[in-house]
Amino acid sequence: MPGWISFMSDIDKKNSREEIRFSGLAVSPGIGTGKAFVHGAIAVEPETYQVGQEDIEAEIARMEVALADTRKQIEQLQDQVGRSSGNHREVGIFDAHLLMLEDRSVLDEVVGIVRGEMVNIESALYRVINNYISVLRASNDVYLRQRVIDFEDVMRRILRNLSLMRPADQRVRHEHILIAHELTPSDTAAMDRSLVMGFATEVGGSTAHTAIIARSLGLPAVVGLRGICDAIHTGDALLIDGYNGILIINPSAETLSEYDVLADEKSSAAKCLEEIRDSKPETSDGREITLSANIEFEHEVSIAKGNGAQGIGLYRTEFFYMHDGNMPSEEHQVENYSRVARGIAPDGVIIRTVDIGGDKLPDGLAEPEANPFLGWRGVRLTLARTEMFKTQIRAILRAGAAGDVSVMFPMLSTLDEVQTCRHLLEECAEELEREGVEHSRRIDIGAMIEVPSAALIADQIAAEVDFLSVGTNDLIQYTMAVDRVNDQVADLYQPLNPAVVRLLKMIVSAGHDQDIWVGVCGEMASDLLCVPLLVGLGFDEFSVSAPRVPAVKHALRSLSYEQCKAMASEVAACSGQEEILEHCRALAVQSYPGLLSR
Ligand code: PEP
Ligand code: MG
Repeated sequence: MPGWISFMSDIDKKNSREEIRFSGLAVSPGIGTGKAFVHGAIAVEPETYQVGQEDIEAEIARMEVALADTRKQIEQLQDQVGRSSGNHREVGIFDAHLLMLEDRSVLDEVVGIVRGEMVNIESALYRVINNYISVLRASNDVYLRQRVIDFEDVMRRILRNLSLMRPADQRVRHEHILIAHELTPSDTAAMDRSLVMGFATEVGGSTAHTAIIARSLGLPAVVGLRGICDAIHTGDALLIDGYNGILIINPSAETLSEYDVLADEKSSAAKCLEEIRDSKPETSDGREITLSANIEFEHEVSIAKGNGAQGIGLYRTEFFYMHDGNMPSEEHQVENYSRVARGIAPDGVIIRTVDIGGDKLPDGLAEPEANPFLGWRGVRLTLARTEMFKTQIRAILRAGAAGDVSVMFPMLSTLDEVQTCRHLLEECAEELEREGVEHSRRIDIGAMIEVPSAALIADQIAAEVDFLSVGTNDLIQYTMAVDRVNDQVADLYQPLNPAVVRLLKMIVSAGHDQDIWVGVCGEMASDLLCVPLLVGLGFDEFSVSAPRVPAVKHALRSLSYEQCKAMASEVAACSGQEEILEHCRALAVQSYPGLLSR
């Protein structure tokens, strides 16, 4: 191996025990510690495990088989490319890849690690090739830097071939902190909470569904940590601080004890809030507000109840829908919704029809799109798949026989959509009646207001439904033209921007003019700095993730409605988010200072 390469890898090793901090976007509170598992964008970093003396030769033999398979695949690719394009340059790239496979100095290094440290072949290979990659990346020579991609390509192939020889189940079986470039909401939903202590990703946003699920699961999470997939290795000791958006590699003893103190403070603050679990969420001057919980999974009903929620204000059914890639049958849905309705009784549940699309895409239901948040999503998709939609609506109506069930429709942008949803619901009710199937004859229908066009015609929509529920996560994203999943534009994701505030005010007036209640089920309802404004604007219901219910209840009980109302009319003249935030903060600090500092 060239001397300069080994020199650089020695420096790497020496630095490897130092505490290193990364700062990102805190999206789910909590503190977690554990070993890293890097689910990298480049290649999945394999686990390291010890092998016995007697298995060493078999490990090395596995590498030889994987290399032979890789060679065959590259030759086939080279052949295909050569035939279809006749491009000598592309064919030459594969020659370079084949040469890498022949480089005995690299392979000897890998074998040396397996023999010397008695570790698995994948781990040794990953380490050696990654060392070369780091050195190439740091090089001043453009040509060498460009070779990184070739190394990565070849490494990915070999690792894949090695993994095909291993038993199928490669999940990590010990407690760990998951590091990834990006995670989908279903990746997060499938996490084993007893093993995953938290996760950190390179991209993401605080109202992305991945983050929303993390909060529901009580899983510490930090996003927007660019470069962590390269900087962190599987097995590194990590601490994740989901309160402040910090990820620490090799936390020192001092850091760990500081975090012990913080964890104790947080848990005693949570205990204090338990005292108000059974009290009403009414303001200090007597305005009653309904405080319910958002859930994504059936098991959260008990968490919602345990936290003192007055019902479920939003059941996001898409996670249940997307569970195994198959659409659940009507019967299966009736059972699920009925259990939720019985579980939350005597309070009610608002079931939202599936909001597939955007960042929630199950295999086989819809094709990936260039601009998924502006595409086939929510009722746009379900109204085009009426059979699937009617199956869900029938199930919701049938579950109405088991408890207090309401329905609401997501991603509405026209009045016509609202009316079509209502007609479909009436059609389903008539069918059930004719079939003699037990169902609820009177179910409340709600419209989610989350698109500016719907907000602007909220008066017309309100005339068609029993309640309005504002999805601020989307309303903010569409009003500000800011992708809620993109941390690069997170600064422009402004819940208190005057444009958003004006729309919120219009929606509340539209609902109240029609004598129907108006709620907020987006994350803004659990933001303690936004709560005074939402109260002042006159929202009747707040629906927040189950773990946030106690804090929001405390905030509501500490605020004076009259003061909030006065503040809401004062901010109508403000020209920017900062100014409005200052008004909100002043009232929040005056009303619940302790809650803000926790
Ligand atoms: C919202 O948009 O605020 C909302 C509650 O729906 P979701 O987060 O599922 O898009
Ligand atoms: Mg939404």
